[in-house]
Amino acid sequence: MADPHRDHVRTIVVALGGNAILQPGQAGTAEEQLANVDRTCRQIAKMIEAGYRVVVTHGNGPQVGNLLIQNAEAAKVVPALPMDMCGAESQGLIGYMMQNRLQAALADLGLTRPVVTIVTQTVVSAGDPSFQKPTKPVGPFYTEVKAKKAMAEKGETWIEDAGRGWRRVVPSPDPVRIVEEPAIKTMIEAGAVVICVGGGGIPVVEEGAHYRGVEAVIDKDLGGARLALNVGADTFMILTDVRKVAINYKSPQQVDLNRLTIEELRRYQAEGHFRAGSMGPKVEACRRFVAGGGRRAVIASLEEALQALDGEAGTQIVETIEAKLAGS
Ligand code: ADP
Ligand code: MG
Repeated sequence: MADPHRDHVRTIVVALGGNAILQPGQAGTAEEQLANVDRTCRQIAKMIEAGYRVVVTHGNGPQVGNLLIQNAEAAKVVPALPMDMCGAESQGLIGYMMQNRLQAALADLGLTRPVVTIVTQTVVSAGDPSFQKPTKPVGPFYTEVKAKKAMAEKGETWIEDAGRGWRRVVPSPDPVRIVEEPAIKTMIEAGAVVICVGGGGIPVVEEGAHYRGVEAVIDKDLGGARLALNVGADTFMILTDVRKVAINYKSPQQVDLNRLTIEELRRYQAEGHFRAGSMGPKVEACRRFVAGGGRRAVIASLEEALQALDGEAGTQIVETIEAKLAGS
């Protein structure tokens, strides 16, 4: 049945950072992860209570890292699985925790919504330049001997990581298309809170009309921006462990940014204010979303998510000077 209010409901894609599931220094026990996910889901439930339609995506680095260690340690007993399968496992695991805790948080607010996770594949180009130059460290630290053996036997790339040992690096290709997009849209339109594109999605390459999983990692913020554009979101919100994006970060000249246009953002990017592998992909994801027609992108802390949604916290990124001056 058509819902007359539907067009007025704003869709928000929320991209959760590592701290939404695991705090720095925690080992990653089930209890720790569930408690963090619970705290995160209470914030998401408040957004839903405020009348927004929320789609959730999330990182999976620590979870995939732990699965890779489990695989490596147990390889003599149980066959080790490739990265795409570890990615799928992590999406299911995190999806379960979020379904469980978000349903509880909604129930405590007197709300009922279906909460569903969609295991998601994201198409990447086989010609993506990152396949020639892997940079993303994953999995356990090895000794030089073990790393060189993995390189020789499996054709993997391993690098010496700042004196901490040897670590495998994999390509980080650009997300091109979300395979499950039609299913995601159908579930959103049916009123479900959808959790999808976890860890940027499982990277797959096209082989005719088929897809094949590859050993790579898609940046979760870039995957989130792709998702937000594809579902026609009003706002793309990245929640992380800092309150705002800064220029001259961690220097005496640090300035936290409140509102800026994508033109200003582009200038700061060119000046090198955002570190690759942390803030770099976040601001690039926001820039892509707004440049691609999204109304607003926001980077904020998990704690200030609600205020940031109202335009009163975080860093707000919009297209034009007029939108910047107009406020939220
Ligand atoms: P997440 O798990 O949420 O993706 P990341 O560690 O990848 O978190 O990115 C967030 C981190 O980015 C912050 O903890 C901060 O230390 C770092 N960072 C790098 N450059 C900046 C900057 N210019 N402004 C704010 N934070 C920055
Ligand atoms: Mg990150």
